[in-house]
Amino acid sequence: MRKKFLTFAAPRIEQPEIDEVVDSLRSGWIGTGPKVRRFEEMFRAYKGTRYAVSLNSCTAALHLSMAALDIAPGDEVILPAMTFAATANAVIHAGGVPVFADCCRDTLNIDPDDLRKKITRKTRAVIVVHFAGRPCAMDRIMPIARRYRLKVIEDCAHAIEAEYHGKKAGMFGDLGCFSFYVTKNIITGEGGMVVTNNKHYAERVKILALHGMSQDAWKRFGDTGYRHYQVVYAGYKYNMTDLQASLGIHQLPRIDAYWKKRQRIWHRYNDAFRDLPVFLPAPVEAHSRHAYHLYTLLLDIDTHKRKRDSFLNAMTRAGIGVGVHYIALHLQPYYRKAFGYRRGDFPNAEWISDRTVSIPLSPKLTDRDVADVIAAVRTLLS
Ligand SMILES: *Cc1c(COP(=O)(O)O)cnc(C)c1O
Repeated sequence: MRKKFLTFAAPRIEQPEIDEVVDSLRSGWIGTGPKVRRFEEMFRAYKGTRYAVSLNSCTAALHLSMAALDIAPGDEVILPAMTFAATANAVIHAGGVPVFADCCRDTLNIDPDDLRKKITRKTRAVIVVHFAGRPCAMDRIMPIARRYRLKVIEDCAHAIEAEYHGKKAGMFGDLGCFSFYVTKNIITGEGGMVVTNNKHYAERVKILALHGMSQDAWKRFGDTGYRHYQVVYAGYKYNMTDLQASLGIHQLPRIDAYWKKRQRIWHRYNDAFRDLPVFLPAPVEAHSRHAYHLYTLLLDIDTHKRKRDSFLNAMTRAGIGVGVHYIALHLQPYYRKAFGYRRGDFPNAEWISDRTVSIPLSPKLTDRDVADVIAAVRTLLS
């Protein structure tokens, strides 16, 4: 039993971020300003895409991706049932219909065969989610998308560092969406980014993110002379601020160091849990890079007497924060009611929903923290 509770996904925030935020406060540029442009350019270079547009969340990135693709009422967008609510809500906010597909039990990623079965004449796009940081089977998904002329959006909220067969996550589809939320691999508090190689999509996302205005405020209030803005769309208020970018510009250069730290913890967990009644994460695929965002144990509830929710409570009582990623969306009341989904529709997503537990995996963890997590899991499951 730990004295101090171990928060599930505590962000690691270092002195340069703190100094940079103070610098923004002193400068008065606390809205969208030069640091946002700098972070955008850094992220664009990191990904190697033509365009990157910063936003205030990945949810906004997903929503504006739908808007950029002109997803309209009645259009169907296929996405995995095993994902966070934001993936489906973005489709609904654009007026589209989220159509769920099942996932694979081992990879937790969307099952390409089920994806194909869900295609109808109304299907316009697919959102793939690189779950826990493991890239989806893009060599199977992209040919299906091309054959049926579907747009592809990648929800890379878990997958900033992920690569699949030599190509970076976010560069397979038409648009890639990233999150810098407090629990993610690098953080800006709240924050998101869209990457794309398509100039038209990049411009649409950028304009829609700030009221649909054709000039952003930073340029308008600069010293180059007054310029009128023009409202060209009924836009949204999704812009990132310099206070947020202040964190990002110092987090991004540490992304590989943080990744290595999580990779080491990942392997310690794998070694420590091999003999327990659990299914460990599937081995990392060859020629791919796992982003190690979530370490998920799937409890073998059929042979072990301890059920998942009892395990969650026991871990919390032992002073260790845990998470559930996720209860499949079709089991949530809203999607059941709105779209008629029910238990039985997605057997693999349900199988995972009943067994999954995420344990702490953060570059903030000390060796002692990791040892405490291992001891607690082993005590409760041995
Ligand atoms: C966190 C998350 C999001 C939403 O990201 P925000 O930046 O919090 O809006 C979307 N999809 C998945 C899979 C996520 O984990």
